[in-house]
Amino acid sequence: MTQAQFSSLNLPQSMLDNLKQIGYNDMTPIQAASLPEIIAGQDLIAKAKTGSGKTAAFGIGALTKLEPRNYKVQLLVLCPTRELATQVSKELRRLARFQPNVKILAICGGQPIGPQIGSLQHGAHVVVGTPGRIKDHLRKGTLNLSALKTLVLDEADRMLEMGFNPDIRDIAAQTPRDRQTLLFSATYPDGIRDLSNDFQNNPVEVSVEAQP
Ligand code: ADP
Ligand code: MG
Repeated sequence: MTQAQFSSLNLPQSMLDNLKQIGYNDMTPIQAASLPEIIAGQDLIAKAKTGSGKTAAFGIGALTKLEPRNYKVQLLVLCPTRELATQVSKELRRLARFQPNVKILAICGGQPIGPQIGSLQHGAHVVVGTPGRIKDHLRKGTLNLSALKTLVLDEADRMLEMGFNPDIRDIAAQTPRDRQTLLFSATYPDGIRDLSNDFQNNPVEVSVEAQP
């Protein structure tokens, strides 16, 4: 079977060139299944294992929708741990190189809040973070999500296991209703179904069990 190529998608040539530079030629199965839907603006609930390429699936879709001239947070990615948020922010920075001047911040708990407030004041297009700390910034008024286009819940089952359900709900409630919501999870316990029902609009369901 021939693998699906990124060039079959409706992406800017600069993004396609960047993917080639990174060394991504073929889409992984989760990318092939989800990117056309994400690019079309659909909400998505996706089941896929670790290492399947989920970051680029939501990253490519959301980064091509950013308006770099608008220095407001347009993409928020919630992750269960600081380690995962750091990984995701690194991958998004690589993917964002096709577009100059895109500012990506990692905002996690267990780190001093002062420097985070300073960075947020300077303006950012993308925030990747852990739910507790993101909620702290919303409460303080140091993060504003009124211009958000895309909300990503990454490893959502792990976030629920860690007790982040109320924080995720509080955060989602402070974003525009017309946002795109992308939910990634390795398993679908009831809590995931409830989150999807409450915060997604007609989500397309994608399930990829095989490793790339
Ligand atoms: P997941 O979030 O599903 O666990 P990641 O997004 O962290 O997976 O990706 C796993 C690895 O696969 C990373 O090293 C990433 O650079 C690589 N990768 C992602 N997409 C592709 C692709 N299309 N071609 C080659 N490697 C890829
Ligand atoms: Mg991941």
